[in-house]
Amino acid sequence: MKVGIPHFGFDTLALKGFIEELGAEVVLPPPTSKRTVEIGVKLAPELVCMPFKITLGNFAEALERGADTLLMAAGARKCRFGYYHFLQEQALRQIKQDFRLVPVSQYSASGFIFKLIPELFGVSPLRVMRAVCRLLVKSALTRDFRRLLNRKRAVDFAGAEQVKGPVMSLIDRARTISEMKRARREMVRLFGINGKRADIRIGLVGEIFYTVDQRANQEIEKELARLGAEVVFERCLYNHLRYLLHIDAGYRRSRRLARPYLAECPGGEAIRTVGEARQFVMQGVDGIVQVFPFTCMPENIALEALQRISEQSGVPLLYLSFDEHTSTTGLVTRLEAFVELLRRRKYARRVSGN
Ligand code: SF4
Repeated sequence: MKVGIPHFGFDTLALKGFIEELGAEVVLPPPTSKRTVEIGVKLAPELVCMPFKITLGNFAEALERGADTLLMAAGARKCRFGYYHFLQEQALRQIKQDFRLVPVSQYSASGFIFKLIPELFGVSPLRVMRAVCRLLVKSALTRDFRRLLNRKRAVDFAGAEQVKGPVMSLIDRARTISEMKRARREMVRLFGINGKRADIRIGLVGEIFYTVDQRANQEIEKELARLGAEVVFERCLYNHLRYLLHIDAGYRRSRRLARPYLAECPGGEAIRTVGEARQFVMQGVDGIVQVFPFTCMPENIALEALQRISEQSGVPLLYLSFDEHTSTTGLVTRLEAFVELLRRRKYARRVSGN
């Protein structure tokens, strides 16, 4: 079986490791590019959200590389995500017939471990459990890699870019828990941060695909780091898995913090977006950046709450909505202006002693 999966930022490494652990070959699509987006846009219904189009483009490119089985996360979230897999399969049939697209329901851990994955890969539930444990450890590693990368880039951009590739290969190669522990030690050594921090810290919130996937958000973390700002985040595969396993204290905290602004979940990750933004404000970040696809209804609702949080706390907010026409040049100009504003505000407050 040749399994194709869409990209999911640096966390793709952890998902790839999970499938390999189950004995299947992984066929990764090429890194998301202009071509990927063009394919997705051509095959998809016009008004569907961007994560649909990008992952559809990824699937088409994985099929070109020989994948015969495509795995797509599924499950209702009070938004369009619930029918992504169904429409994607129909769209892909326009270009290829001999493949299957398997929806991987996220919201039943027991169904996943005892039924879906054993039947699909022909393995025992015990082996699935071992693979899930390794997936958790590896996704914690990819999360910490991204944190260290953001921190290092903000103070030593060239140095961070130099070690990025070697550290990613280390993570990719680590299979067992002890190999992952060794990879972590080596990662920390290679990054060699020594307590240096950037003068500006920005909390990143928004729709999960756009917060996690660097190609989708046009490398927003990298661009902010180039301007000397460190991006902090909560949204990543590790926290999402813990949420699905009902062991994520962060989600409960987000719900509590979001409640005064959003009593009901309007779908997607709006609750998390609002809760995490409040948490970042309490942690003293200098600004908040929200990223989301242009037509994403839950994040547009969250935006109203974020605007109130920003007004009440005085912490500036930049919201960025993306579609297939978003230009990197325009994006970088907005990021430059935002970081400049944060820096001026910070120094003005320092001078006035507030
Ligand atoms: S959260 Fe937003 S972008 Fe994601 S599937 Fe739902 S509507 Fe689309």
